Amino acid sequence: MEIKILEEKDLRKDEKLYIKGIRLINSVKLDYKTQKHISFLVQGDNELHNVMYFDEKSNDKKWQCDCKWYTLQDKLCSHIIAVNLALKEKKLSLG
Ligand SMILES: [Zn+2]
Repeated sequence: MEIKILEEKDLRKDEKLYIKGIRLINSVKLDYKTQKHISFLVQGDNELHNVMYFDEKSNDKKWQCDCKWYTLQDKLCSHIIAVNLALKEKKLSLG
């Protein structure tokens, strides 16, 4: 599976979230990986969040998170941004 990292312009759509994402880069861990999806864990300020990547879903649904922000607003959250930045900057290896 080829993971599709989000484009810089999408990651930077909301500057505040982007900055939050940068702060979380080193708090990202790979949880597990299957043929069709990858699970990441992001330790936020208070809670641990689960970010999922679904290979088979359409582009705007590939990245999902279990946090309230994502669930209620259906927009990129700082956790998804953090995972994308960690992959981009090669701080995280998919093995
Ligand atoms: Zn989130």
